[in-house]
Amino acid sequence: MKLRCPICGRTYEKPVQRCSCGEPVEFELFEGEPYIGKGVWERFWDFWPVEPVLEFSLGEGDTPLVKSRLGGEFGVRLYLKNETVNPTWSFKDRGTFLAMSYALKAGYKTVGTVSTGNMAASVSAYASRFGLKAKILVSESAGDEKLKAVSVYGGEVIRVLGDYGRLYFESLKLGEKLGVYFMNSDNPFRIEGYKGIAFEIAEELTPDYVLIPTSSGGLFRGVAKGFLELYENGLIDGLPKLIAVQAEGCSPICRAFKEGKAKIERFENPKTIAKAIANPYPPSGNAVLKLLREFGWGCVSVSDNEIRKAQEMLAREGLFVQPASATGIAALEKLDLPEGVKVVSILTGSGLRTLKDAPAGEITECPLETLKDCLRST
Ligand SMILES: *Cc1c(COP(=O)(O)O)cnc(C)c1O
Ligand SMILES: [Zn+2]
Repeated sequence: MKLRCPICGRTYEKPVQRCSCGEPVEFELFEGEPYIGKGVWERFWDFWPVEPVLEFSLGEGDTPLVKSRLGGEFGVRLYLKNETVNPTWSFKDRGTFLAMSYALKAGYKTVGTVSTGNMAASVSAYASRFGLKAKILVSESAGDEKLKAVSVYGGEVIRVLGDYGRLYFESLKLGEKLGVYFMNSDNPFRIEGYKGIAFEIAEELTPDYVLIPTSSGGLFRGVAKGFLELYENGLIDGLPKLIAVQAEGCSPICRAFKEGKAKIERFENPKTIAKAIANPYPPSGNAVLKLLREFGWGCVSVSDNEIRKAQEMLAREGLFVQPASATGIAALEKLDLPEGVKVVSILTGSGLRTLKDAPAGEITECPLETLKDCLRST
């Protein structure tokens, strides 16, 4: 098991989570070949850093790739990778399952994470599934409704009073001391689990572009590593162009990218309806920035209005996603891609988790006596 820092190049034989330079570490590229099999974990068996504990899988991954008619509006061939159908409604389950497999095999009894949204629910659910305890650290301001969706699975929700921004590093430090395995946003095993998205896409088609909603940068790094491994193993002929998509109200990576900076800076006063991608100081920000530059990829930010519109367009096609997950479609409008290219947008999580922010539909009232008329009118 060898880990490497993508920024300074230092390597580690032990399963550390961060490099001594402060940046994330990642597993070196895996070599292997795909097999015939039912699940993504089995088909890409050679590519995981730890043996997936299949008996505890909840069926994460192997999500549908849906051809979208919205492509016609933008002059491209558009496919939607529907991650909302994962067991706890977001792609986080892929990373959680793999990180949990590691935690179990390494002998941990308790795991943890820092999140109030999708990742919190995912870790709470999988910890119970694996028979482990979960400590979910949430911010002072986290709403009760969101927390209910976490605690229902059995994880212990701990409201931390104080600077939420410091929690990421503080939790890793204390977790190491106390034997609690924290699987935060860009945990190395999470990144590996997210590779499955790239593998599954490549099994169906060879995209020219992939649009990736980006917050901490974990998902982006995972999808990038997945395609890189396919390429290095001779399984695809070229790399797609990956586009990181952020919300204008919290776009530290896009800003640093545009300004030509080598490092991201904290985004002050973040404000967006896309709560799931509102990390003002992404722990994998510099690693994503490096990938964007190295491969000539791109970063696009979209406004809340554009996000709302995209969310509604997707819902009108039968796919109800949360605001963060509609950003890829919002970005399509801005990107002005060449006619006819193949684009995959990753629908990262379900709209049912953010019902309050959903676009309101119209409701018709009808007395039973006149129901006939109501049904006839068009
Ligand atoms: C976590 C999440 C993202 C962003 O993933 P990162 O790994 O933090 O960049 C995007 N959309 C949804 C719905 C998420 O839950
Ligand atoms: Zn380093």
